[in-house]
Amino acid sequence: MPGLVVVGAQWGDEGKGKVTDLLAERADVVIRYQGGNNAGHTIVRDGEVFKFHLIPSGILYPGKLCLIGNGVVVDPKVITDEIAGLHTRGIDTSGLKISANAHLIMPYHRLLDHAGELRLGEQQIGTTRRGIGPCYADKAARLGIRMQDLLDEKILKQKIYAALEPKRLVLRPYAKDPELDLHAMTEEYRTLGHRLEPYIADTARIVWDSLDAGRLVIFEGAQGTLLDIDHGTYPFVTSSNPVAGAACVGAGVGPRSIDEVWGVAKAYTTRVGSGPFPSELESELADRIREAGGEFGTTTGRPRRIGWLDLVALRYAIRLNGLTGLVITKLDALTGIDPLGVAVRYLGPDQVSFDDFPYHQSIVHKATAEIVELPGWHESLSDARSLEDLPPQARDYLELIGDRLGVPVVLVGVGPGRDEVIRTGAGDHLVPEVAPAPVPQR
Ligand code: GDP
Repeated sequence: MPGLVVVGAQWGDEGKGKVTDLLAERADVVIRYQGGNNAGHTIVRDGEVFKFHLIPSGILYPGKLCLIGNGVVVDPKVITDEIAGLHTRGIDTSGLKISANAHLIMPYHRLLDHAGELRLGEQQIGTTRRGIGPCYADKAARLGIRMQDLLDEKILKQKIYAALEPKRLVLRPYAKDPELDLHAMTEEYRTLGHRLEPYIADTARIVWDSLDAGRLVIFEGAQGTLLDIDHGTYPFVTSSNPVAGAACVGAGVGPRSIDEVWGVAKAYTTRVGSGPFPSELESELADRIREAGGEFGTTTGRPRRIGWLDLVALRYAIRLNGLTGLVITKLDALTGIDPLGVAVRYLGPDQVSFDDFPYHQSIVHKATAEIVELPGWHESLSDARSLEDLPPQARDYLELIGDRLGVPVVLVGVGPGRDEVIRTGAGDHLVPEVAPAPVPQR
């Protein structure tokens, strides 16, 4: 006790990084349980911006245990660079541990990802082309290479050979790519293995020991519920399971180890890449919210698609994840948007309406959203630290969310900084009073 999952309740980029960072102060361990370096977390600390793609957000606290679970796929080059980047800024990385069972992204996974998207043309999924999907495919095909394989040259070479052989045909256009040379690849990964060896560990055991000692463990999800490979808007999804249940598999704990599940949602909706988006806005309003919220991908810089807050999708996320609390981020980005819209149900073909997220893709693709309008506000919210500090329209907006969804709003984000947050009272047992910045590690 207690294990807390932080999960994206929308299509990703909800600001989970900042939430995890706040909670991390109280936690013993922060563990990522799925995804790869297609996730991107931005944390602003004393005006300094930190971007992480693989390392859990808690790393800025000296000595905090930050784990990369077995469910994550790791590009050893990317993690090595992230570690080096942190060292350059004087940050101690001794608390970082990577599961020996985590699968490795190989050069051929990146090439296959690229080739796959090119082949799909206009139908492309909009992957980040980092090789994540092909890496998970190899894991399922039992052709994956894991962190622990980096430590044995003979096994590494055998496994690379076995994984490469069935791909020769598809990889023919890249046959001359020096990255695909078996010998060179083995050498390169061995070198990376030497550098990563101190970080490789039995992360499931570390999590167990912390939970057993009664400490707080945060399970940090990447992407979001609607991008889940089983429950999201397939095939426009990620190649893993962001939903809270996957925290058990991807970290190696039983379901009884999870006590709380907090879903993070923006005060509006965004999505990157292709796929259905019933509450999407395509007007000048979308541009205003995009600018105000800085809605450009951390990993790719791509402008995000923008829409009204979608209560149908959120209700679905609440059910799938068993949410015990909601964190609403970026309320500040809605300042000046008046009136505000909230999608309360979907309208499918023949004007059939849906309160619940429709299971059939054809309906979701064609659905439009029924919008309820609320008055907006014009004041800046960045100095608000309690609900009473908010303009009444902003309070009404939050109240509508809590009432219609039946899950308490535990935190509200009013700016990117770690202190720009409102504690509502409902989750205070887990969030530190005034989130103090950790001791600089210089
Ligand atoms: P994540 O992957 O879910 O952590 O989300 P991202 O890091 O991709 O996007 C969140 C972005 O929003 C980051 O740049 C954060 O600094 C920023 N952010 C988080 N919470 C708030 C908030 O309440 N208001 C504003 N304006 N920005 C926020």
